[in-house]
Amino acid sequence: MPIHEKSLVAADDLLTHDKLVIDGVDVSGHWNTMMKPRYVSDYDADFQKTIQAYPGGENVHRCWQCGSCTNSCTMYAINTDFNPRYWIYLVNLGLKEELLKDRDIIWQCVSCNKCTNICPKDVRPEGVMKALQHWMEDEGHVATSPSTLFDEEFTRQCFDRGRIEDTEVIANFFRRTGQSIVDLLRTGWLGIMIARMNKWPLLGRAGLGTFLKRMPVTGPLKMGLMMVFKPRTRNWARTGEVLRQYVEEQKRLLKTKA
Ligand code: SF4
Ligand code: SF4
Repeated sequence: MPIHEKSLVAADDLLTHDKLVIDGVDVSGHWNTMMKPRYVSDYDADFQKTIQAYPGGENVHRCWQCGSCTNSCTMYAINTDFNPRYWIYLVNLGLKEELLKDRDIIWQCVSCNKCTNICPKDVRPEGVMKALQHWMEDEGHVATSPSTLFDEEFTRQCFDRGRIEDTEVIANFFRRTGQSIVDLLRTGWLGIMIARMNKWPLLGRAGLGTFLKRMPVTGPLKMGLMMVFKPRTRNWARTGEVLRQYVEEQKRLLKTKA
C-alpha cells in the first residue's frame, strides 16, 4: 500500500523502486514508496476502553483521523515525532507496543489545547494525551511524572484540610521531585525568573533603593508565615471529606461506563 508518513514505518518495511515507470508515468523514488504487507495479532481489543476510562480519554473513539490536531500542535511544530493524531490512531487499534515506543515524548504535551479547539469531532486530544500519560504511569511503563507528583500533593492537602497552602504545595513538590530550592534560586529557573521579575540589572543601574521598591516583599513574607502558622478556617476539613466523597463517586461512575 502507498504511504504518506514514512517516518512512522520501520525502514526494513519500506519498499521503493529507484526507477519505475507505469503506463508511461515516471513514479520513481518517493512516488512509489510502498509498505510491506503485515499481519498484526498483538493488539489489545480493549485498549480503547481502557483509555476511555481515564478522565480526558472518553471521546477517543470519535477520531476520524483528519490530522487537524497534529497540524495545530505546539509541540509538533518543534518536534515532528510528537504526533497526537498518530497516537490516537494507535489507541483505537489497540496497538500498545507501538504507542510505548513514544513513551519518552508523549508527556511533553504542554496542554495548550490548540488541538482541542480545532478538533471537528470533539475528541479532546489534550485529554487523551493526559489519559495516556496516566495509563503509562499506572502500568509502570514510565516513572511518576512531576505533574502527577504535584497533583498528588495538591489533592492530599485538599482531602486533609479542604484547602491548600500554596507554599507548602510548592515546597513538598520540590522535595518529592528531589529539587533543592536553594540550588534553583542560585543557578536554576527560579533564580532566573525572580531576577527577571525584579529587573535585576536595576541593582547596578538605578541603585539599591529602586531595586528594593520592585522586590515583592509582602507576598512571599505572607506565604512564609502561613507555612509556619497554618491559617485556621472553621469547618474547612469537612470540605475535604465532601471532596473525597465526590472523587470516589466520579471514579465509580467512570468504572460503570467503562
Ligand atoms: S483533530 Fe480530532 S478528529 Fe482530527 S485527527 Fe485529531 S483527534 Fe482525530
Ligand atoms: S494540548 Fe498538547 S497535543 Fe494539544 S496542541 Fe497543545 S501540545 Fe499539542
